[in-house]
Amino acid sequence: MPKVNLHKRDYLDNIDQDFANPEFIDKLAPKFHSSDLRVNRSPYLTERNVNYRWKALGNEECRRQLLDPHTQEQMALYSKNIEFFVGTLKMPVGTAGPLRVNGLFAQGDYQVPLATTEAALVASYNRGANLITASGGASAMLLNEGVTRTPGFAFKSLIEAGQFVAWLVTQFDHFKVLAESTTSHGKLSDINVNIEGNHVYLVFEYLTGDASGQNMVTIATNVVFDYILAHSPIDPDYAFLDGNLSGDKKANSQTLRSVRGKKVTAEVTIPEELVQKYLHTTPKKMAQFGQMTTVGGALSGTIGINAHYANALAALYIACGQDAACVAESAIGMTRMEVTDEGQLYASVTLPNLMVGTVGGGTGLPSQKACLDLLGLHGNGKSQALAEVAATLCLAGELSIVGAFCAGHFSRAHHKLAR
Ligand code: NAP
Repeated sequence: MPKVNLHKRDYLDNIDQDFANPEFIDKLAPKFHSSDLRVNRSPYLTERNVNYRWKALGNEECRRQLLDPHTQEQMALYSKNIEFFVGTLKMPVGTAGPLRVNGLFAQGDYQVPLATTEAALVASYNRGANLITASGGASAMLLNEGVTRTPGFAFKSLIEAGQFVAWLVTQFDHFKVLAESTTSHGKLSDINVNIEGNHVYLVFEYLTGDASGQNMVTIATNVVFDYILAHSPIDPDYAFLDGNLSGDKKANSQTLRSVRGKKVTAEVTIPEELVQKYLHTTPKKMAQFGQMTTVGGALSGTIGINAHYANALAALYIACGQDAACVAESAIGMTRMEVTDEGQLYASVTLPNLMVGTVGGGTGLPSQKACLDLLGLHGNGKSQALAEVAATLCLAGELSIVGAFCAGHFSRAHHKLAR
C-alpha cells in the first residue's frame, strides 16, 4: 500500500530533527545587540523627522518611490492620520459603474472607485453594476445605525456586581450628558448591561452622524468610564475601557441581527434575458449555486452567507479613506438568490456592519477625498448614502461572481486578466 504523505507530519519531523541542531536553537534564541535600524523616536510629521527617518532607512530608490515630490508637497495633510511617516503608497484605482442605486439616501448612478492590486476585481464589479443598472437599479434601504464601546468591570462577587448595576441604572441620564459633552455630533442612544458571573459589561451605543465613529465613541465612553471609576459606590477589582463586546474589527455573530455602523439591505430583480446577456447563465442555475454554497458556508461555519463582500469593501474602503481593518466585521451578511414565479432572478444582500463615514478618519486625505468626491459623497449628510452604495456594490459583486461560477468562467476570467 503506498505511503500517505501528510504535510503536517513532515513539519513535525523537521522540527524533531532541527532541535538536535544548535544553529536552529540559536535562530530562535533572544538577541540583545543594538539595532542598526534605530531611527528618531518622534512620531510627529515634520520635514526634519521625515528626513531623519530616511537617513536611517538609507534606501534612495525606496525613498524616491514613497516620498515623491507630490507627496512631499502635501505632507502636512497626513499629520493627523499617521505616525512615523515616510511617504505614501500608490494603489491602482479603477471605477466600476454605472451602478444605479434607488436608495432612501443614495439616488442615481455611481461610478464607484475601487483600489486594489487584484486583477479581475474591478472588471467583475463593473459587470455586476452594469447588470443592476440595466435591470432598473437596486432598491437599497438603510435599516439601522449604531456604534458601540463596551467597558468591562470585574468585582469580587456577583453580589458586588449586582450592587454596581443597581447604582449604574440610576445614572444613565447623567452618562448621556457626560458622553455627549465630548462631541457635537455623537449621541448616546442606548446603554445595555450584561452580567456574567462577577463581571459586568456595559454596551454604550451611539449615533455618530457622518463619521464612522470609532474615535468618537471611544472618547465619549472614556469620560463616562472615568466618572464611573471615580464615583461608583462599589470599587471594581479591575476595569477596562473595552471588554471586547463591541465587535470592533472582528467578525462576530451578534451583529448579524443588530448593527455595527450602518445596516443596509439591497435587492434587485433581473429578467432572465439580462442574466443570459450579462452573465451567460440562467436564474435557475444561479439559485442552485446559492443553495449549494449556503450549505457549504454552513458546513464551514461562516457567520452569515456571502460570496465575497470583502473584495468590494476592502477596495472601496481603501479608495475612500475608510478604516480598512473594519472589513473584518463589515464583510458579514446574507446574500440570497431565488427564481421568481415569472422566471426572473431575485437577488438581495443585507450587511449589518458597514463601518463607513464621509467625514473624519481618512476621508479628508487628498486621494481618498478625491475618490469620495467622484462619488459625490464627501462631507456632511452623505454617510448614509455611502452605506447604501457600499451594499449595492456588494450585490453587484455577488451577481458577477455567482454568474462566473455558473457559466464556468471564474478561472478563465482570472487567467485572462491576471496572467
Ligand atoms: P474622527 O476623525 O476621530 O472624528 C470625527 C470628527 O468629525 C469629529 O471631530 C466630529 O466632531 C467631526 N464632524 C464634523 N462633522 C461631522 C458630522 N457631520 N458627523 C459626525 N462628525 C462630524 O473620526 P471617527 O469616525 O470618530 O473615527 C474614525 C477613525 O477612528 C478611523 O480613522 C479609525 O481608524 C479610527 N479608529 C479608532 C479606534 C479607537 O478606539 N480610537 C478604533 C478603531 C478605529 P464632533 O465629535 O465634535 O462632533
